[in-house]
Amino acid sequence: MVGGYTGKILKVDLTREKVETKNLDMDFARKYIGGLGFGYRMLWDMVKPGLDPFLPENPLMFLLGPLNGIIPGKLVVVFKSPTTCGVGVAFASGQFQAELKFAGYDGIIFNGRADNPVCLYIKDDLVELRNARNLWGKTTHETEEALKKEMRDPLIRVASIGPAGEKQVYFASIICDKGKAAARMGAGTVMGSKNLKAVAVRGTQGVKIENLEEFNRLFKAAIQKSSYNWKRFGSTQFIARANYWLDAYPHKNWQKEYDPHVIRTCDGPALELKHFVRRKSCFNCVVHCDAVAVVRSGKYACVTEGPEHEHVAFLSGDVDMHNSDILIYGTLRCDELGLDVISTGSVIAFAKELYQRGILSKEEAEGLDLSWENEETVLTLMEKIAYREGNLGNLLAYGSKIASEKIGKGAKYYAIQCKGTEMGGHGIRSRLDWTRPITFATGLRGGNHNEAAFPLGQDILMTENLLVVCIFSNAAVRYELLPILNAVTGWNIPEEEYYKIGERVTNVGKAFMVREGFRREHDIIPERFFREPLPTGVAKGATVDRELFEKELDEYYEERGWDKKTSIPTSNKLRELNLEDIDSELEKYRGA
Ligand code: SF4
Repeated sequence: MVGGYTGKILKVDLTREKVETKNLDMDFARKYIGGLGFGYRMLWDMVKPGLDPFLPENPLMFLLGPLNGIIPGKLVVVFKSPTTCGVGVAFASGQFQAELKFAGYDGIIFNGRADNPVCLYIKDDLVELRNARNLWGKTTHETEEALKKEMRDPLIRVASIGPAGEKQVYFASIICDKGKAAARMGAGTVMGSKNLKAVAVRGTQGVKIENLEEFNRLFKAAIQKSSYNWKRFGSTQFIARANYWLDAYPHKNWQKEYDPHVIRTCDGPALELKHFVRRKSCFNCVVHCDAVAVVRSGKYACVTEGPEHEHVAFLSGDVDMHNSDILIYGTLRCDELGLDVISTGSVIAFAKELYQRGILSKEEAEGLDLSWENEETVLTLMEKIAYREGNLGNLLAYGSKIASEKIGKGAKYYAIQCKGTEMGGHGIRSRLDWTRPITFATGLRGGNHNEAAFPLGQDILMTENLLVVCIFSNAAVRYELLPILNAVTGWNIPEEEYYKIGERVTNVGKAFMVREGFRREHDIIPERFFREPLPTGVAKGATVDRELFEKELDEYYEERGWDKKTSIPTSNKLRELNLEDIDSELEKYRGA
């Protein structure tokens, strides 16, 4: 077997309760590398156009790359998204991903739907579906503890859904290792639709490295580049920067992108002083970007893995909430309930703005005071959404796009989302952050801040998603990942080909979107960013220029080799990327 790979994929048919092990086709592996490369291609091959994401035929794939189990990595979960009806992608760092590799698998593909709640248990070659009726209704943390007890093994790694996934909240997450979320686009929603409560895994095997001496040399050099700020504050180091220097931090449902209160309460140093007690790390990572955070007393007393940038941006800035005890407790509850923190904070901010503008009345808010000043409503609404409680909880559980369509009365303008996915916490009006208007507009995953703006940037990030490495830990060594990949696999992939593979995978994902009906008009950002200049901050007065946006979009498609009118990849581009079969199928959509 080629180094880095186990050569085995588990296929789990939940309807028939059948598990089989398939050999990984190594020509396929060489063409798509792993992770999102496997995911997009298999999604294209397995999902019939127009499939309802809630149907059992929607595959749920847990995928790894050749560096998992070796350097700090992630799990990537791929599926058709309930929030966008396009590609669905969610990443989780932590230990689960490495454990799956140690058990001997490059991925798991779930299909079908179990009649009753089940859990998949893997211990190396022993793989079994177990009854999980006793776990249904439990939070993700309770589920993990119960499984460790049941299996009498404190070292198993668990990925599970909480009440939100069970109740089919559209932005439910999958939580690994009690706090590492595969959060976005409804990964937990699809898992819940399959009656799959959890996956528990324990592995005892190693991962082969072809050129160990070269790998050790490269990895040692990479470790030495890890940054002090990451070690001390994690991604909360960016809060002050995004807020004060870049005017690109969500505040009051993006009415502003500057929050004057955050520095005293919820940015990295403030949280460190009051709440962080020690640092924590994922598998084989020297960065330790996670904080263990505590609220020592009072009704929010808890211990949890500390908030990251997106937690602070959406449970503090966007909802205008500055009680750090509520922030820490809300971070914990989001994970326990199995909710995507970006979407959760966004829909709560959306509801608060509708209330501010009288679009949502006190009666429609079921007596809740949704004013910005009422900080506790963040927690109240979070619980209501997770359990789809009452009309309001049930409505917001659809996400801001669908909820705004149901509400009417102009609510759509206040739903800050792209393609149905709420936007990550990096603003675009100031043009000072690394995100750009067309980042969010053209991203295949909707409001995803991790898809960079221009083709080369997107393809570089894509290669990292094929390796499924942690961007936080590996940002400093971005350009040294290819030599590491070559040392591990024994391949000798030249740089040009490496980025072409990234481009190939982006085009497969794009082809999937085209087949699902996405065209140029869907590559758009929320109207607010065109119409409303930033009211405060260093970039006061800045807005997105519509003409410039359209021009940049033209240039983007041109550079990509996609048709400017429709955004469909041209035949030349797909053939250049050895995607002839996809090109033939897309032909019927061109000119349609
Ligand atoms: S940088 Fe942080 S999230 Fe990434 S692997 Fe290391 S500890 Fe985990």
